[in-house]
Parts: sequence; C-alpha cells; structure tokens
Amino acid sequence: MKEQGQEKSFKDFDLSESIQEAVAKCGFTKPTPIQSEVIPHILAGVDVVAQAQTGTGKTAAFGLPALELILGKPPKEGMLVITPTRELAVQVSEELAKYGRSSGIKTVAVYGGDSAQRQIDAIQRGANVIVATPGRLLDLLESKRLKNFEPSIVVLDEADEMLNMGFLEDVQAIFQYLPKERQTLLFSATLSDPIQRLIRKILKDPMFITVGSTGFSHQDIEHIFYDLKDHKRENAFFRLLLANNPSKAIVFCRTKKDVDDLTVILTKMGFPVRCLHGDIQQSTRQQVTNSFKKGDIKFLIATDVAARGLDISDVSHIFNYQIPFGPDEYVHRAGRTGRAGNKGIAITLGTSHELRKLGRMLGPRTNEITIQPIPSAKQMYNIQVETFTNSIAKQQIREGVNDVVAKLQEKVDSEELVALLLSYLIDKEKLVQQEEDKFESSSSSRGPRREGGYGDRPPRREGGYGDRGPRREGGYGDRGPRKEGSFNPGPRREGGFGDRGPRKEGSFNPGPRKEGSFNPGPKKEGFGDKARRPAFGGNRSVKPRPQYNADASKAPAYSK
Ligand code: AMP
Repeated sequence: MKEQGQEKSFKDFDLSESIQEAVAKCGFTKPTPIQSEVIPHILAGVDVVAQAQTGTGKTAAFGLPALELILGKPPKEGMLVITPTRELAVQVSEELAKYGRSSGIKTVAVYGGDSAQRQIDAIQRGANVIVATPGRLLDLLESKRLKNFEPSIVVLDEADEMLNMGFLEDVQAIFQYLPKERQTLLFSATLSDPIQRLIRKILKDPMFITVGSTGFSHQDIEHIFYDLKDHKRENAFFRLLLANNPSKAIVFCRTKKDVDDLTVILTKMGFPVRCLHGDIQQSTRQQVTNSFKKGDIKFLIATDVAARGLDISDVSHIFNYQIPFGPDEYVHRAGRTGRAGNKGIAITLGTSHELRKLGRMLGPRTNEITIQPIPSAKQMYNIQVETFTNSIAKQQIREGVNDVVAKLQEKVDSEELVALLLSYLIDKEKLVQQEEDKFESSSSSRGPRREGGYGDRPPRREGGYGDRGPRREGGYGDRGPRKEGSFNPGPRREGGFGDRGPRKEGSFNPGPRKEGSFNPGPKKEGFGDKARRPAFGGNRSVKPRPQYNADASKAPAYSK
C-alpha cells in the first residue's frame, strides 16, 4: 500500500494483465490524479461520485476498473455508460474499446441519428459495454427492442451536462429499467443541487471524490479575456487568430446561426475551417470530427452541444467568440484544450459588460482569467513580420539554387536581389498582408471566392463596406509611392532588369536598422506573453505589456 500523496503506478491497481497491457499500449505511464483516487474504490465495488472535468483522464478512471469487474461476466451483465451527446458516446466507446480489446470486450455506441437496428444487432452479437445517449437508450428500452439487458455497472458521464440539456426525466426513466443490484458511478464537473438530488435517488452510499481545487482545477489551461472595447468582434477575432497562431483551435459560438456566419467569414478568408452543430447530419459531424482529429482541418467552429466532450489531445486554443451561457459551459469549452498533459489556452472575447457577466457567472474563479487588450494594428504588423521572418529563417536552401543566385548577381547586387525576391514572394503569397483589408473584404463581399485563397480580395465595391478609398502607403507589398525605410524597393527604374546602375539611397538598403521599418527589432517576448492583471479583485496594477514598436511616429502605415 502506498503512503498517501506518494505517486502511484498502474501496477499498484489490481488490474488484469490484459488491461495493464492496453494501458501500456495507450502510452499511459502513470495514473492521473482522478485515476489514482477513483480506481481502487471502483475495484472495491462501491458507488462513486467523482467531481472531475473532462481532459483529466476520467474515462479511464471509470473504464479501467469497470472493465476489470465485468471480465468473465456474460455480456448482458456488462457496463452501461450514459453520456449527454452523440459525440461523447462515440468517443467514450472508442476509448473503452481500446482498453478492452485485448480482453475480448466488445463495445457498442448507441445514439440517435444512426440506424437503431444496426445498434441492436451489434448489441445482440454480444456487447459487454454499451455507451448510450439518454434519448435513444430510452427509446430502445421503452419499445422493448433492447432485451436481456442487466448491466452490473452503470456510469453517468458528464451528469451536469446531461441535466443542463434537459435529460433528467429520461435519465430517471432509464433507471426504472435497470437492475436494482448494480454499481453506479457518477462523473460530473459540477455538483449542483439537482445533481445532488439525482445522486440521492440512484446511488447507494456513494464515495465522494473531488480532485482539484475551487479554481478551474486544470493547471494546464491558461485563461485569457480579450476586452473588445471599441473593436468590432469579427475584426478583433481575426487579429487574435493571427496573433495567437493556434496549431489547432475550436471556436465556440452561442447559436447555430453564429456558427454558420463565422464559418462563412473565415472560409472566405481562406482559413481551413469546418463547423459542427445540431442541424448537421450525424455522418457529416463524424467526418468533420475525424478530419479535425487528423489535422486536416485546423479550425472547428461549434456550438456548445456539438463540441461537448470532444477529446482531441492537441487542441492548442479554444476561443469563446461570445461568452458562454453559464459556468458549466465555460468549464466544458475550456476543457477541450490542455488535454492529455498538453498546455492549452482558453480565450474569451467580449465587451466590458460581458466581462462583468462572466465574473458573476464564474465567481472567484474569474481571478484565474487575465485580461488583455486586443492587439493594436501596429502590434499585428510586427507579429506578422516576425512570423514571416521566422519562417524565412527556417527555410532550407534548395539544391541548385546557388546557380540561379549567381546568375541573378550578374544583374543586380545581393541586397537588391534579396529585396526583389522578398517582394516577389510577398506579392505571390500575399504574405504579411494588411489584415483589415483582408477582413473587410471577406465580410463585405458575398460573391463567390476567387482564386488566390487566403487574403484574396474580391473586386472593390463603390461605397461598400469594403471600399476604403485609396490604399494606404507603405503597406507590405503596396506598390504605391515608396516610403523611406519601408520594404518596398520602389518603382522600377528604366533600363529593364539588370540595368540598375549604382544603388540609390533609400532603395532597399538595410544599412543601420531603422525603427518602424521591416526590422522587428531584438526578439521580444511573444504575443502570448503575460503582463497580466487578475480579472477581479486582487492586485489590479497592470504590468505594461511589451511594446512591439516603441516609436509610434515611425510605425508602418497601418490603420488603427
Ligand atoms: P478524458 O478526461 O477521459 O476525456 O481523457 C482525456 C485524455 O487523456 C484522453 O485522450 C486519454 O486518452 C488521456 N489519458 C487518460 N489517462 C491518461 C494517463 N494516465 N496518462 C496520459 N493520458 C491519459
């Protein structure tokens, strides 16, 4: 027996060889805190209430010991897991299938929107584990299509979500069909009064286990609120996407319409996005989830319901495009990132009014959220320049390119050559573009997307939202009159390519680096850097954020 507080290993649990093997195959080296706490009690056969958020390893926390207990029992005395959503049902059944495969355990997911007969057939072929959503399960029980069903272990997963979604009556009705002699386990991120009442009805002398503190209790997630002030939400969001440069992100909206609208906007901008909400067919939802998992899609725009329970370990950011409806939604949204030991960032976008609402919603936990201003246009410019220069610095030199360089050097000197090539690249790839141009054109134009993808602009409409009058000088790739110190090599001189004569002052001559030019300066801390203040109470003094370009007068031409 280990001393309390001493780290446990999976070997400390009384789990069969085949289950230990499955754990090792999954790459789990040591149990998570919730697993350490819960597994011995479940193995001992008692009812358990565990307050744990998703992402903490709760599926294995109930799955591993429950599978151990049903090994050797006939399938009908197996395990039933009830989950609030189809996505979660599929995900939990996949997870349990992994843990039980080498023990001969068969798992079936049962949910609406898919053929009930196919699910029943699969169960009748001898499923030991059924993972079901309440609606479909109750249908099958009431219509007596699910017979010979006497699970010895019943798990209510994400019970708070189940109740929030209005499934209380269905859940209570389901329990009428379940054997009285059973072990019941209830997992929930929060334990509200209705949950406590449900616990009293369906569990017997449960052991209560809470892991974590009164805060968000998930230390791998950083919470940031971006104050919109007078920024437009869409525009601010676009800046945050560029500034945070997520490797994989879920963006939460309040309604299906918001999801659709934002998907259209981001798609027009050329972002690889897809959306998930309740009006989308189950098969498409599954397809989208899989593509997101594989990394074919970088951004998923979703409603709370559709993304609930999604277990994708490498989501780097979640964005609350609008504040969530309640505290549980906040916790569940944030819990889509920072999974399986990875770090994550949960970003909320809102007005100061929404910040107050969030504060009332989350109470003392709001202190864990830091507030930041939306990055200014100048910061955005510098971020983009930095991203651009970093990617150039990482570029491998291709074979044979030196011959081309030598040839070009017969015509132009090296510095001008660099300037020409970079300008060519920028024009071609539309890199380091003026982000507002990009945003405004996308949101104003309803026309079909033209070739050119990311950042490509539809024709300007007179007087329309996208009509910004003459283009501003000095923008990256702007071919207008050359500005001193900008990166623009200026209008070509007569004499054609090669006839460049001596380099003119003011052409691309890096010389000593000038502020406000293309020089991002000494590498400053990244945008995610925290000069943060707690959201409410505590010390409100603000550490100044690092400035990206100290001299505003020399800032590149870039609107606010
Ligand atoms: P869950 O909270 O059940 O949704 O699990 C979140 C993620 O953590 C899943 O991808 C699991 O595969 C992973 N996981 C569960 N247990 C462990 C463990 N002991 N070590 C590492 N990852 C784990």
